[in-house]
This record gives sequence, structure tokens and C-alpha cells, in this order.
Amino acid sequence: MNCFSARQKPGIWRLGLIALGFAVSACNAEPEPEDREYRLDFVVTPMPEAAAVAVSMEVSQGRHWLREVEFDFDTRYSDFEGDGQLDIGSDTVKWSVPKRSGSLNWTVQIPNRRGNSFDAYMDIGWAIFRAEDIIPRKSSVTAVDVTSKTTLRFDLPAGWSATTPYRERRGVFSVENPDRRLDLPSGWIAMGSLGTRFDTVGSTRVVVTGPSRQGVRRMDMLALLRWNLPELERILPAPMRRLTVVSGGDPMWRGGLSAPTSLFIHADLPLISENGTSLLLHEVMHVAMNLKVADGHDWIHEGLAEYFSIELMRRSGTISDRRYRRAIRELREWSKDVESVCGRESTGPVTAAGVTLLSDLNAELAENTEKTIDDLLYEVLSRDEPVNTQTVRDIAETLLGSPSKTLSADILGNCSD
Ligand SMILES: [Zn+2]
Repeated sequence: MNCFSARQKPGIWRLGLIALGFAVSACNAEPEPEDREYRLDFVVTPMPEAAAVAVSMEVSQGRHWLREVEFDFDTRYSDFEGDGQLDIGSDTVKWSVPKRSGSLNWTVQIPNRRGNSFDAYMDIGWAIFRAEDIIPRKSSVTAVDVTSKTTLRFDLPAGWSATTPYRERRGVFSVENPDRRLDLPSGWIAMGSLGTRFDTVGSTRVVVTGPSRQGVRRMDMLALLRWNLPELERILPAPMRRLTVVSGGDPMWRGGLSAPTSLFIHADLPLISENGTSLLLHEVMHVAMNLKVADGHDWIHEGLAEYFSIELMRRSGTISDRRYRRAIRELREWSKDVESVCGRESTGPVTAAGVTLLSDLNAELAENTEKTIDDLLYEVLSRDEPVNTQTVRDIAETLLGSPSKTLSADILGNCSD
């Protein structure tokens, strides 16, 4: 006996009900897994005058699979409205999702301060932010064994366009993230009067975008990526399929920030600094590694990103061997007063100390084995669990055949695991 799936056309559904009468209600067979899917469509409408966006989250489902969603939100969010029951607390909103279809709407202010500047901003002609800034994160979902098919659309003023980390077809972005129960968009988004360049480098679809007339060096960035992504692809366990680079000028934060499959970099910053390091490639490494590091072991994340960003440039010929050695020497010098690399956040001299450790470990591997630091990176990235200092020691010991002298340094002494 056939059961009707949510994918059948409404007309067929009605005809079937009439033809089969009571037999339809007697059908208890579970839908096939591919049918246990509901639609989640986000529509974003900018309101530049208010530096805000209106967001609509529309759910359509064949059965009452997605029953309840609870979101955490902060003071930038307001005007929650929805079909069905809505319980709005001071910092959470609980939505009882209607049986078949319904929408939850809200308004959110875009600008978000980070020190003296902003890591999310909206002006009259443009906006740069992360999807996480406009779509609150879920704290709980009531839905079992179902997946969402999520899309993201923009209702834009004339002359505007939008770029996201996702694949676009006729103005609709397909959102694909690992958590399929409630697949929320994430990563960097730019919208407004944009200039955008696309390219494919190896297996990676690269998009570089930024507001017009802000000095965004799209072609320079594409060139640097074209030189270095092939080297990166050689050392990753799995290729990076997409990379979206969003760039913009003041008052955006004067630095680089990575997010899932995307990054932001301030338009005024050099792509390669005088000391032979590259902020763009450092952030690319963060995106490519997508590494989970245990609390207190951030040196691994930052050390690997910085070490390999310089190493990639040496291998690709972007910088000479001599300049590479000088860059590592300068980082070693900068890190000489660091007493411990362990802590919640690794910055400046601590990251430089992480690079020094990895460089020494590479030398130790070369001296004793056929292995290289690439093998260590491969193993680190192949772990499912968040990595810590002991994980790195264990991997190094396996590669060396004995404990690493480099990783028994005092500077790693108080890294609690
Ligand atoms: Zn970093």
C-alpha cells in the first residue's frame, strides 16, 4: 500500500484522500528517510535607514516534524512575531511551530562594536556581517530523525546584490551545514553595491567581494590565493570546496576574522606584511583547518595557522627561502620572553612562540624520520575530538617513534589537559 509523502502535489493528495477513504488514515508506514525533510527558508530584507534587517524564517513540512525551536537572542533583536504559539522571554524565544507551515519574523540591528570599530556594520549603501549576527543561535530543537532543506534569500533594493558562503542559483542560496536537524546559515555575508570576483583554484570555488569604492583589492587577493591554494590543497585531508572572502573599509574592524567557509579582512591591510607574514593566508588557514581546539590550547590553532601561512608562501615561491627564514627568525625573537603558550587566547608573541615550536618540531622530524610537519597537520585535522597539547605530543611521538624533545619544552609545561 502506498503512503503519501509530503512531496506529492496538493492536487494528488486531495484526489488520493477521496479515492482511498479510510484506508489513508490506516497507513502507519514511516516515510522513507529522504521524505523526512522539511523546508526552512530565510528571507532577509535590509532596512539601511535603520541599520537593521528584517528576517523571516519560513517552515513548511509534510508532517509535524519540527515542533519547537528555542533561540537565544541579545538586545539587538526585537519585534519577534510568529504563527502559532510564541513565548518571548528576556533573552530566549520559544516558538511552537505550526503543524504544516508557518513563519517566525524578527528585526535585528546590524552594527556590533568590537573595541573602537565594528565586526558587523550597515551603512546606507552596504552591509557586512555574519549570518550568526542576524539569525539567533538555537538553544533547543524538538524534532527527531528529520533534516531541513534550508535556503537563504534577500529582498534587496535596486542596485544591491548579496554574497554569502553558499552556492547561489537564481538569487537563492542553498545552505548546507553539518547539523541538518535545523540547518541555520552561518559565515560572512556582504550586501549592497558590491564588486565581486569569482575563480576556481583547484577544488576550491573562490569568491572575493566587498562594497564598491572602499579600496577592496579583489584581484590582488585572487592572485595571492591562486598562488597558494594549490599548496594548501596538497596538505589538507579533504579539499576546501568553497572560500568566500569579504572585505571592507572603516569602520569595520581592522583585522581578519574567520568563520565557516568564509573570512573577513579589512581592505586597508597589506596582503603580505613587511615581516613576511600574511593575514589573508592566516585566516584562510583557519577556514581550511576548521579545527576544534580544547580550551586553554589556542596556541595550536594560532600556531598552525601562522606557521602554515608562511610555509605555503615559501612553497609557492611567493616569498624566497631567505625571506622565509628571516620571518621565522623574527617570530622566534618576538616570542623569546613568552613563559607559557597555554591560555584561552593566543595572540602576538604567544602565536609567534607557537610558530617557533612547530618550526623546531619540523626540524626534529626531519632529523630523525622521513616525516614532516605536514604529516602532523594531517593527523591533527583527522581527529574528531577537540585537540589539545597532549594530542599534538601523541601524534608527534607516533611520527618520531619516541617522545618529542621540542614538545617537552617548559613553555608547554603548564598546559593542563
Ligand atoms: Zn588566528
